Amino acid sequence: MAIRQLSSKEIEIRDSILDLSKTREWEFSGILNARNEILIELKTEMLPQRCEPSADVHILANQPDSHLILHHNHLTKESLSSADWNGACYLFKEIFAHCDDGTTYYGKVKDKLQVLKNIEQFTYQQHLLSAGNLILNNSQKLYFFNATPIDYAKETINNAMKIKGYIEYDVDWGAFCRPCKTVMAIINGAANDLAARL
Ligand SMILES: [Zn+2]
Repeated sequence: MAIRQLSSKEIEIRDSILDLSKTREWEFSGILNARNEILIELKTEMLPQRCEPSADVHILANQPDSHLILHHNHLTKESLSSADWNGACYLFKEIFAHCDDGTTYYGKVKDKLQVLKNIEQFTYQQHLLSAGNLILNNSQKLYFFNATPIDYAKETINNAMKIKGYIEYDVDWGAFCRPCKTVMAIINGAANDLAARL
């Protein structure tokens, strides 16, 4: 299933973020109020893998009918992380992570309690290890595997949480990140196995 269509304002924000990250290898985040399409903030902490929302965003997110959407960039090109899902539990109705090859990861929390349980630090580290091992076990029969298992560990966990119905999750793959059919089958197999443990 494809990710929902972005509004023209969201496309503008995504393009600005990807443009900014071309000149500076930092994470940028653009937070939008979906009710009125107003950009609340576009910021960076001048760090490659982190950009925390400001206090204003926390206040807005706690208003009863808030509908904040996060657009940010992933320099690692990996899928949504435990920190992203934490933001999706408490602050954002929807999260988008964009990569410079055109890949976009999309997520939305459906069962907050289950997501919080599975992204708890120790549990999440165990899931990363399990996902890596499941991918590795299934990929031994491959003659050539040009990615390390950990590259797809978050993707596997996210698919497992989707199978369980805890999240909505989708990816529009770009040229670089798109797994070939064989790798996709390995990820799906690993996600099915992992889902049984979530
Ligand atoms: Zn992220």
